[in-house]
This record gives sequence, C-alpha cells and structure tokens, in this order.
Amino acid sequence: MPQSQIHAFPRFLLLGTVAIAVALLVIVASHFLIKNHEDNRQRLAALEEEFLQKGQDRLVLEIDSAQDYIRYVTAQTENVLKEQARAEVLKAHAIATTIYTRESSRRPEAEVKTLIKESLRGIHFFNGRGYIFIDDMNGICVLLPPTPSVEGSSLYDNKDDTGHFIMRGLLASVDNEDGEGFSRYRWYPPNKDTMSEKLAFVKKFEPYQWVMGAGDYLSHIENDLKQQAIKRLQAIQFGKYGYILVVDNTGTVLSTSGISPQATSSLNQEAKELERQIITKAVNLARQGGGFINYDWYLPTGEGPFPKISLVRKITGLNLILIAGFYPKEVEELLQEQKVLLAETQKEDRDQLYLFLISVAVIALTLSFILSQWMKRKFTQYHRDLEQKQKELYNNADQLELASRVFHNASEGIMVTNADNRIIAVNDAFAAITGYSSADVMNKNPNFLRSGRHDKDFYSNMWTQLKEYGQWSGEIWNRRKNGEVFPQWLAISTFVDEMDNVRNYIASIADLTERKAVEKKLAYLSDYDPLTNLPNRRLVGHRVDQTISVSKQKGEQHFALLYIDLDHFKNINDSLGHGFGDEILQKIAKRLKSLLREGDTVSRLSGDEFVILMSELDHLESAVSLSERILHEVSRPLENDSHLTVTPSIGISVYPNDGLSFDELLRNADAAVHFAKAQGRNNYQFFTAEMNHQASQRLHIETELRKAIKNKEFELFYQPQLCLQDNQLVGCEALIRWQHPIQGLVSPDAFIPLSEETGLIIQVGRWVLEQACLQAAKWSEQYNAKITMSVNVSVRQFRPELVEEVRSALRESGLAANALVIEITESTLMQNEEATLVLLQELKNLGVQLSLDDFGTGYSSMAYLKRFNLDQLKIDRAFISDLPHDKDDAAITSAIIDVAHHFGLVTVAEGIETIEQVKFLADVGCVEGQGFLYEKPIPVKEFEQKHFS
Ligand code: C2E
Ligand code: CA
Ligand code: CA
Repeated sequence: MPQSQIHAFPRFLLLGTVAIAVALLVIVASHFLIKNHEDNRQRLAALEEEFLQKGQDRLVLEIDSAQDYIRYVTAQTENVLKEQARAEVLKAHAIATTIYTRESSRRPEAEVKTLIKESLRGIHFFNGRGYIFIDDMNGICVLLPPTPSVEGSSLYDNKDDTGHFIMRGLLASVDNEDGEGFSRYRWYPPNKDTMSEKLAFVKKFEPYQWVMGAGDYLSHIENDLKQQAIKRLQAIQFGKYGYILVVDNTGTVLSTSGISPQATSSLNQEAKELERQIITKAVNLARQGGGFINYDWYLPTGEGPFPKISLVRKITGLNLILIAGFYPKEVEELLQEQKVLLAETQKEDRDQLYLFLISVAVIALTLSFILSQWMKRKFTQYHRDLEQKQKELYNNADQLELASRVFHNASEGIMVTNADNRIIAVNDAFAAITGYSSADVMNKNPNFLRSGRHDKDFYSNMWTQLKEYGQWSGEIWNRRKNGEVFPQWLAISTFVDEMDNVRNYIASIADLTERKAVEKKLAYLSDYDPLTNLPNRRLVGHRVDQTISVSKQKGEQHFALLYIDLDHFKNINDSLGHGFGDEILQKIAKRLKSLLREGDTVSRLSGDEFVILMSELDHLESAVSLSERILHEVSRPLENDSHLTVTPSIGISVYPNDGLSFDELLRNADAAVHFAKAQGRNNYQFFTAEMNHQASQRLHIETELRKAIKNKEFELFYQPQLCLQDNQLVGCEALIRWQHPIQGLVSPDAFIPLSEETGLIIQVGRWVLEQACLQAAKWSEQYNAKITMSVNVSVRQFRPELVEEVRSALRESGLAANALVIEITESTLMQNEEATLVLLQELKNLGVQLSLDDFGTGYSSMAYLKRFNLDQLKIDRAFISDLPHDKDDAAITSAIIDVAHHFGLVTVAEGIETIEQVKFLADVGCVEGQGFLYEKPIPVKEFEQKHFS
C-alpha cells in the first residue's frame, strides 16, 4: 500500500464512523419522534375514550342516585302520612278537650258539642285536602267537612271496593288501651270515580264517646313528596353543564334545571321544536327500558347547539323519566388541556432526546476521533514494522546468499540431510572429497558412504550422542565413489526447530588423508631423524632400556654404546654450507648402517653426533673391530675423485661396567669421545677410570663458568623476529654469549650443555631471564616498543621454582607478562608429564606466553600440541634451510604450520636465510620469522640503533 493511502485510511475510518454515527442518530431520533407522536395520539384517543366513558359513568351514577333519592322520598309516604295525620288529630283532640273543659260546666252538652264540631270544621291541611272527621261509637257521622250532608247519618255499613267495612275498621282501631290507632281503607279521591288507598288516624274523645280522625290518600302524599324530590333534583348540577331533566310518561317536562331562565325564555320556536323531538325520543327510549341517546342541544349559556350525550332512565311505578346528559365538548376541552400538557411534556422529552443525541454524537465523534488517531498510530507503527520486516528480509536474503556462497565455497565438504536423514544438499567440496556429484547423492541416505571399517556400535554411539547433545564429531573412514577408503574428520550437528524437533543434520567433512600422512610422518619424526632416517636419541634410548632389561634377564650380558663425533665437522658446515653438511651426514649414516649386525642400532643424536648400540657383546674385541671398521669406512673420501674426508672420534662405554642406564652409558661414552678428541681425533677410546680426570677437567670449566657469572662475562645478544607479511618487528630472542677473558666470544653450544650437566644453567638461566626482562621493559619504556622478548629455558631450569623466578623477573623489571615468551623444547615436555602440565599452567596463569622451540628435531609429537596449552611453535632451522626446493621439507613445513594453526598456535620459522624461504613460508601461512636474512643475534647497542632510532 502506498504511504499516502495508509495515512488516508484513518481519515476514511473517521469519516465512515461519523457517517454511521450520524445515520444512527437520525434513525434513532426519528424513531423516537414518530413513536412519541403516535403515543400521544393514542394517549389522547384513549383519554377521549376514557373521558367519554367517565362522562357516561358519571351519568349512570347521577341517574342512579337521583332515582334512589326519588324512590327513598316516595317510600316515606306512609310514615309522613301517619305522622302528620296523628299530629293533626292530636291537635284537634286538644282543641276539643280545651273547649269541653272550659264550656261543659257552663253550657249544655249539645251546645258544647256543636262548638267543638264547628271549631274543628275549618281545619285544613295536606295542601288543603286534609280535614278532621268525627263519628260516634255507633257509626253515626258527627263531622265530615267535605260532605256535611251525611252528618247525623250512620256510616256503619259503608264498604270499600275490596268489601272492607270502613267505619267498623275505624272503630276497631280505637278499641285499645290508648284509645287511638291507624286504619287503612279505600275511597274515592275528589273528582275520581275509582277508589284509591287511604290511611287515617283515629282517637277516642272520651267525654262524648266520639272517634276523632284525619287521613289522606297515600297517592296524594306520594305525589307531594315526588314533587318535592323533583324540586330538589332541579338544584342538582354536575360537571360544567350537567343537570337532570325530569319528564313524566307523557313527555311533560317536570323539571328543567341548568338552563338559565333567560336562556330558557330565549328559546325560539326552532329550539322548542328540537326540545320536543328530543323528549319524544327520550320517552320512547324510556319505554323500551332506557339508555343513551345522542343529540344536539344548547349550553346553559344559550350557545349551541352542540352534540350532547344523555342517559334516559324510567322510574317504574312513579311515572317518571330521568334524563341526564353532558357535552363531549367538555371532554374536548379537557382533552385540549391534556394536549397542552402532553405537548409540554413532549417538548421536554424531545429536548431531552436532542440533548441526549447531541451528547451521544459528541461522545461518538470524540471516540471515533480517538480511535482514528489510535488507528493512525497503529497503522504507522504497522507500516514501520512492515518496512522493518522488509529490510530484515532483504538482510536475511543477503545473509542467505552469503551463507549459500560460504556453503558452496567452503573447503570442507558439507552435507545437509533432512529429519529422515535423506540428503538434501551437498557443496562442491563434498563432491571433490567423495567424488559423488550432487545429483548422485540427492535424497539418499548417507550410509552409502560407509567404508565397512566401523562396526554397528560405532554408528549407534554416534546417533546416541547426536540425539543427546545435538552434535557429534570424530574421525571416520568412508568410501569415495572410486572405491577408495579414506579417513575424514566428520562433524555432525543437528538443526532443531522451536519445538526441538530435528529439522536437519548438517555434516561437515574434512579429508584427513593428508593430515594422516603428516601425522604418520610426525610420528616417524618422533622416533627418527628426518635427515638420515636413522633412529633418533629417543628411539635409541628406548632400545638401550630394552636391551638393559633383556641383558638383566640373561645375567648381566654385556653390550656397548659407541659414541661417534665427526671431527671438525663444523668447519665443513661453515665452509661448504649446511646443505652440503647434511649430504655428508646422510652419506655417513649410510656407511654406519652398512656396518651393523642385525639387532644393532645406529642413531643420530644431533648434528654430527651418532651413537651405535651393540646389543650383544661377547668380547670387547667385537667393539674394537667395529670401531676400526667405522674409522675406516667413515674416513673414506666422501665423493669420488675428491679428497674431502671426515674422520670420526669414537668413545665406547660398556654395560654394566661403565654404567647401568642409558644416560650414564651415554655420558661415559661421550667422555670417552672427549678423550679420543684430546688424543688427536680419528681414534676410538674405551671409557676408563682415567677419563674421570676429564670430568675434573670439566669441573675446571665449571669453575670458570661460575666465575663468569660473578665477573659478568655473559652478555645477551638479541635476534629480531619479524612478521612475514609486512616485515614489522614483532619480537626478539635473547641469546647468551660468553665473553671469555682468554678465549674471546664463546658460542652457547660450547657451554650451555656443560652448564646444563653441572646445573650451573639454573644460575645462568636466572640471570638471562632477569636481564632479558629488564631489557624488554627498558625498551618498552624508552622507545614504547611493542615487542615480545623470547627467552630460552633449558630442561634443567624447568622445575617448580621456575614460576617464582619468572614472577620475580617480571616484578623486578615491570615488564608486562604477555610480552615475555618462554621457549621450551620438546625434551622439556617429555619429562614427567603431569608435573609439566601443572608447571605450564602456572606459567600461563602468570600471563606469559609459551613457545615450543626447535619443533621437528626432537620427538615432534602432535600429541604435545594437543595436550599442552601453548602459544607459539618455532619450526626448527633444519626444515627451513632447504626450502623451498626440498619437497619433503616443504610438505612437512606446510603440514606443521597447518596443524599448528589448527591448534591455535602462532608459527615462527627459525633460520630464515633467503628471500625464497620467506616467500614459501608466507605462502603456506607461517606468521613470523627469524634468521640471518633479517639479522644475526646482535648486542643491545646495535639492536637499539637498528630498530629504535
Ligand atoms: P636456538 O634456541 O635454536 O637459537 C637459535 C640459534 O640459531 C642461535 O644460535 C642463532 O644464532 C642461530 N641462528 C639464527 N638464525 C640463523 C640462521 O639464519 N642460520 C643459521 N645457520 N643459524 C641461525 P646460538 O646463538 O649459537 O645458540 C645456540 C643454542 O644455544 C640456541 O639454539 C639455544 O638452544 C642455546 N642458547 C642460546 N642462548 C641460550 C640461553 O640463554 N639459555 C639457554 N638455555 N640456551 C641458550
Ligand atoms: Ca631458541
Ligand atoms: Ca631453535
């Protein structure tokens, strides 16, 4: 995705979310508004319905209570009648009693009776309908105001339409203790020709045995009460315009309440007609049992007409119809109020909704803005990550390409198999080593390479170790395509994924054929002298040891050591060159060999010194004859037609007379040689007691050596060591010189061996160490020289005290430990191995470097290189001198360098004398060099002049 698009994305997102939020808000808002509106409509409709229902319910209630009221009032008729009638009769009785009491003594009885009669005749009650009547106990009418004509006649037998004797009923009513009571009967109301029920109260008037009474028709009283009730109903008003209209069965209006008098009076003709129609309708409905009717009518204010709903109810038995109504207009007004209220709450709701929606919108916008910012950051981060990943991928690709190049160009063969151990890749070196091409081996199990030299256990061990440790390495014999079996160094490692499952096995293969050959050669070198192919000192030592033990078994059987030193051979070396010297040494070796019996050994000790072991010596004569033959053979001219000859001096020691060990026998043979030399050379000498004198002679030298230390006759010369690549000075070797007061400058070869034998080397060596360290420290301080100082340490010095000596030399001089290189020889390493290991480690712990001197001349075991923790390897001059022409030396030198580097050692070539040697050595990877080509060992002054100025 292009950058711009990536940055636009969060913007799109923001717009999108805003659009969605707005759409949602609109939808929600309109949903709420529509719903609200609809709710209100429904609510109003429900309200209207409810109000109407309530109005109707109210009507029912009003009518019910009006009806109850009327019924209640009319139900009181009998009581009202009884009470009123009794009250009137008691009032009349009191009047009569008063008159009687006051007049009976003054007037005659008849006069008093008339006075009472007439005073009671005028009493009227019950709306004029009521009166007081009097009868006597015989049923003769005394007073009857409505019909005076029947007064004086008997009414005793009068009956009503039910056959009831009215008079007898009245008389019976007073026939009790109180002399009063009620009586019921039927009689004609005024202007009516049918009877209706009447109720009368009667009371006995004792003085004349009259029965005085009053009564009325129940219906009359009822009617009175009804009228009274209707009047009351007229006053009842409900709601704003509600009232009750009362009509009778014929439709006559009995009460019209609610309409103001002027409104009623202003009713025009049309309205009157309308009223008539409505009442007719209501009456008809009442006849059918009543119910609601709708019609238009005027408001009490005269406005209208408006629709009106009325309830019509007939009151049975009372000939009354009640009509109660209300105007839905009232409901509408109420509804209107409700609407206003609703609109207000609706507005509030709406405002709240808007507020809510706005808040939601603001929150949504803020959130989506934050989200978009967050997304933007995430996107940018993601994009950056992607770019980073891409970069890493490119890098990885580069790395892969590099790895692939390394894979293909590696000098070691590489074979990669999958988890099933099928080959998936091999490099060119693999093909070169095994002869199999990539196509040959693809997808095969590598066991086709097996030589058959290893048993099953070997391979199962290998797999066990691979599984357990993830790697295996070792020597293994495999078979090339051409059938040849060859040794190889095989290192297998497993490549596992994160889950620890094996994904690949990676095998690297180094062809050991050459190295094996070198090892063989080196092994040979450890026992043989490479120049002459004769056994070396070590081997002959072994053989002497063996012979000693054999001889002991055979009862101290004699054998002899013949020490042969060539006379003045140094002269040949010096004058004709080392190469020529070597040739002579080889020729002499051959001659010596040719003289030996089977079982005898001739060995080259060093330089021009040989030793012969005569393993069986029956007579001393045999040693004599051999010695003579040696003198003869060795002294023959070295080349045809040449007078060049060398003569030997021979010293003979005999076991067990002259010594019980190799060292002792050799030392004594050596002493005998010295004696032979002293005798004029080219002769042989048996070791004799006489020769002990020689030892005393050496004692003399020893004394001189001791003096030399005291008199400071020793001096150190320094030979520079250079880097072969750029000829930079990297170090120097300290080499001792003896400035003898009489003999002049004595070479170390002349006094070092003696000082080793006598042990003086300890003192001499310590002096060398201190001196060399002081010198190096001085150069470092004075000239800021960054060079190492190599010091030769003899085998006799190599003992535990050496550590303290080195430490002290460093401390005293202030020289940095790693600037000091201790040179030891293989013979040193050959001593007690365990002790040597400890000593070497202690020296290393001081920080000094360790160098193996004269490598190749002694025992040259690869094992040393492996076992000891060394820093440097000095290849002996003997190998360098014939380079590069000598093929053997060339091969050995390059192999040594190879092996040394394999063990992490710096190589130094000794005795470099020609440019070609340097070239060769540099080509095969030798690091440093030292030799006359660069510089002979030189005194301090000269060294400083040449290198620090
Ligand atoms: P080295 O340790 O192998 O010392 C190198 C010898 O080779 C020196 O002989 C040196 O002069 C000689 N040399 C150097 N370059 C060449 C060259 O290009 N061609 C030839 N033909 N020879 C070269 P130097 O000084 O006579 O020493 C002889 C041996 O004496 C030394 O052999 C060493 O083993 C011993 N030595 C010398 N100084 C000391 C010392 O301070 N302590 C002990 N323990 N031994 C010493
Ligand atoms: Ca040396
Ligand atoms: Ca050396």
